[in-house]
Amino acid sequence: MTAASKETLGFKTEVKQLLHLMIHSLYSNKEIFLRELVSNASDACDKLRFQALTNNDLYESESDLKVDITFDKDAKTLTIADNGIGMTREDVVNHLGTIAKSGTAEFLSQLSGDQQKDSQLIGQFGVGFYSAFIVADKVIVETRRAGESADQGTRWESEGEGEFSLESIDKAGRGTIITLHLKEGEEEFADSFRLQNLIKKYSDHIAIPVFVQQDSN
Ligand code: ADP
Ligand code: MG
Repeated sequence: MTAASKETLGFKTEVKQLLHLMIHSLYSNKEIFLRELVSNASDACDKLRFQALTNNDLYESESDLKVDITFDKDAKTLTIADNGIGMTREDVVNHLGTIAKSGTAEFLSQLSGDQQKDSQLIGQFGVGFYSAFIVADKVIVETRRAGESADQGTRWESEGEGEFSLESIDKAGRGTIITLHLKEGEEEFADSFRLQNLIKKYSDHIAIPVFVQQDSN
């Protein structure tokens, strides 16, 4: 891939507002980011399963759908990987940056600043992907749409401050890998026991298996 395939784009205004809010106001509910990312991974697997009903090739001979959660205590990273439908470069631009999802404006207008009330709103609206920035100061998304060739992968990267970069990558397996670089003080999420408890608490209803890495020590 050529260097020309790398570009930097700005977030849409509403997305910037949402990000600002995530980073500064939702702190007392910070753990909900995991629920949101696992829910997206699960949705991606559902989409693949549905589309594969009429196009079995999308499975690429890997039909066991799953979510893998891994971490690196030293690097202070947390990774959520799925082998669901994945995204094209265009999907990434649209869904993770330039098109605010319906409901965002309403969500923003209803926030009261009262963390108790706002946390209920979060449950109602679902804050989605951007909640990753509650606990991360850098988020990397590597994805490849099912059915596309390995060189059709895309890497999205952002520090949540107004812009994101996009780059073409090779990705052998279909689906999406989201890597969070945890903020100073958020190391608790690079811990097997903590992650397993959160999965039990928020994501027990997920139909596909969610695997959490064991602690290495
Ligand atoms: P919602 O899930 O309510 O649509 P999100 O902010 O959580 O909103 O996600 C925005 C969109 O980004 C999703 O609708 C989906 O198109 C895309 N997306 C996010 N995570 C993934 C993923 N793991 N795999 C495929 N697409 C994803
Ligand atoms: Mg979502």
